[in-house]
Amino acid sequence: MKAVEIMVDSLEEIKKCIEGKNSIAISAHVSPDGDAVGASCALGMALKKAGKKVNIFLEKYSDTFDVIPTGGLVSNTIPEGFEPDLYISVDCGDLKRLGDFGKVFEKCDSVNIDHHKSNTHFGKLNYADEYATSASEIVYKLIKDWIPLDKDIASALYTGIIFDTGGLRHTSTKPETLNICADLMAFGFDFNKIYNKIFYTRKFEEAKIMGVALEHMERICDGKIVYSYATEKDIISCGTTSDGLSEIINYLKGIAGCECAVFIYAKENDIYKVSMRSGDSVDVCKACMAFGGGGHVKASGCTIEGKLDKIIEDVLNEVKKQL
Ligand code: AMP
Ligand code: MN
Ligand code: MN
Repeated sequence: MKAVEIMVDSLEEIKKCIEGKNSIAISAHVSPDGDAVGASCALGMALKKAGKKVNIFLEKYSDTFDVIPTGGLVSNTIPEGFEPDLYISVDCGDLKRLGDFGKVFEKCDSVNIDHHKSNTHFGKLNYADEYATSASEIVYKLIKDWIPLDKDIASALYTGIIFDTGGLRHTSTKPETLNICADLMAFGFDFNKIYNKIFYTRKFEEAKIMGVALEHMERICDGKIVYSYATEKDIISCGTTSDGLSEIINYLKGIAGCECAVFIYAKENDIYKVSMRSGDSVDVCKACMAFGGGGHVKASGCTIEGKLDKIIEDVLNEVKKQL
């Protein structure tokens, strides 16, 4: 019954709340990923179809996610003084992760739709199901018997689901997930193009920094922890930015015998992003929450300010506590 307690408000209540509003803003977490963009755009396009005035505000995101239809609704900044009747956050675990959009969100009537274990229930209405594969899956459940789906909405939802499940591969994937994907695929979008863009296409510069990160790779605790890092200098010398490094963690996790992978990379001067992925024995959400971050049991992150050597030491010590 734990999941029911955590969700708090039902999708039916959220639907009723949305129906009573006219102008609706939607945002997702900073550094938007495939689920953040997919869930925001699908929900935005659907609510527009239902007659709402919709604005989607997202930080500038990687062109990998340009495969996701936006309905022309996305902008990167909120105009001065803009206040919607309702602000919906998707795929975001806490107010801080909404970045600058959080300041407007806080002032509005709001809904929080998410699947992070670490969700803090920062909306007026909250639906946070840690067992859902993705925010996109929850958006699908919210709209499926309410607003008719179309090819663009279906492809945005499909992209979000396959992104967060690593291509229907992670343990969060259930028979129901495949049924949802089957329902979505029937709309006839180019799933092969989406899949290849999301998982098998990277920029030359991104492949170069991956090489540097693999070169830096170390293992401790009998190979149960595999970790690596990339400094600001490494990133600049490969001609890329910190946005191009999100895939590297999966390669560290893929090393045989690895129970927990840790990748630390520079965002800006003395500010480092930490990504963690685990198998069955480490709760990386717990480890990242120790540094003010969060996420899921098997995939989490945090941002830490300080010197790289100290951050590596502190983070590895936190993971070691669980081994
Ligand atoms: P990443 O390692 O950035 O791919 O993130 C893995 C998961 O952890 C995603 O679900 C993120 O939304 C979440 N996450 C990443 N960084 C943070 C953070 N600083 N605070 C809370 N959750 C995070
Ligand atoms: Mn996300
Ligand atoms: Mn997600």
